Amino acid sequence: MVAALTQTTHKNFKGVEKTVYGRGSFSQLDEILAPRRADNEGYFVFLVDNYFKGKPLEGQVPAHAEDLTYYISVEEHEPTTDQIDRLRDEILSKKGLPSGVVGIGGGSIMDIAKALSLMLTNEGSSTLYQGLNLIKKPGVYHVGVPTISGTGAEVSMTAVLTGPVKKLGLKCEWTVFNQIVLDPDLIASVPRNWWFYTGMDTYIHCIESENGRMNNAYSHAYAEQAMKLCREVYLGENSGQTAENDDKLMVASMMGGLSLTYSEVGVCHALSYGLSKILGTRHCYANCLIMNHLADYYPQGVAEFKEMVAYHQIDLPKGLSKEWSDDTITQMAHVSYNLPHMWLHAIGDNWQEVITIDLLKDLFRRL
Ligand code: NAD
Ligand code: ZN
Repeated sequence: MVAALTQTTHKNFKGVEKTVYGRGSFSQLDEILAPRRADNEGYFVFLVDNYFKGKPLEGQVPAHAEDLTYYISVEEHEPTTDQIDRLRDEILSKKGLPSGVVGIGGGSIMDIAKALSLMLTNEGSSTLYQGLNLIKKPGVYHVGVPTISGTGAEVSMTAVLTGPVKKLGLKCEWTVFNQIVLDPDLIASVPRNWWFYTGMDTYIHCIESENGRMNNAYSHAYAEQAMKLCREVYLGENSGQTAENDDKLMVASMMGGLSLTYSEVGVCHALSYGLSKILGTRHCYANCLIMNHLADYYPQGVAEFKEMVAYHQIDLPKGLSKEWSDDTITQMAHVSYNLPHMWLHAIGDNWQEVITIDLLKDLFRRL
């Protein structure tokens, strides 16, 4: 008797096409872009974190006379749909379709570069495309140069945008960078608190990836290695912001992100999206605030996270929810509830029996 075929669908995902890793690799960027310079209207758009304005890196950005360079501040808010739409309209009306887009910065700039690449070729507002596989056409060639490590945005297939209704990514195969440049020299100047919060984003990605039904040998292998690197960077005698640890953190961020491509984030990220959407709290910091209170979901992960917090004397405020109205907490709970893929992974098929708006409100009240 022939056994019936099992009806399982496995993810068939696209990775970054090319990766260069190593100290000083940023100096290869001009050479990397050269073969693309004849495409479309023959110019590149550089999106650089405003932090680098007036810093030595400004003089090393390989922009040619015909290129457009934008120094973008990511201080006020995380990337928004409106911001991307305005940037796209301005660039197209100035010079037409560019050969490509290069993002140089943290997770915010990575997402802006990915989203801009897609929106240059897809008509209408980016709000139309927030979700999975809603983008209609491939974007232009795009390159990511991370200057903070942790979010894994350099390897993920999503460009997270905050819109009027939701905080949700433009998620499809074409979102993924064509090229990334991983130069650990670029993360040396990250302030200590950001170094901690963004690194913890990697650690939390791994804990959540591991603890849920989507985890498999593939996601596990990346998570296990990324957590090992995080332990070396954040715990133990050689822990701290050193060149050797920056080399490791850059790889950990990438591997944490790759672990998620075959798995999912969970409880911490679902709550974090609620907090960020309603109060504008930054992603990695929001995750740290929340992880501190999730011992009943991730006992080992939270215990180790707290060890790292204590080791680096990071002050994570408590009692924040005392300032929040019931209405604010209800809004956060609804944003979090509406992330079924995370709950399905973290809790299982019956998640709706376990996770209720009231339970989510109670979790937010712990903060
Ligand atoms: P960020 O890009 O928001 O930057 C944080 C701060 O660090 C900013 O003030 C920035 O100017 C500064 N900075 C950047 N590089 C620096 C450097 N080398 N030296 C000194 N200062 C520097 O930080 P982030 O935490 O990397 O990114 C957060 C964003 O990433 C959020 O918008 C979040 O939604 C997004 N995110 C995306 C994904 C994804 O898969 N696409 C995953 C997680 C988070
Ligand atoms: Zn994250």
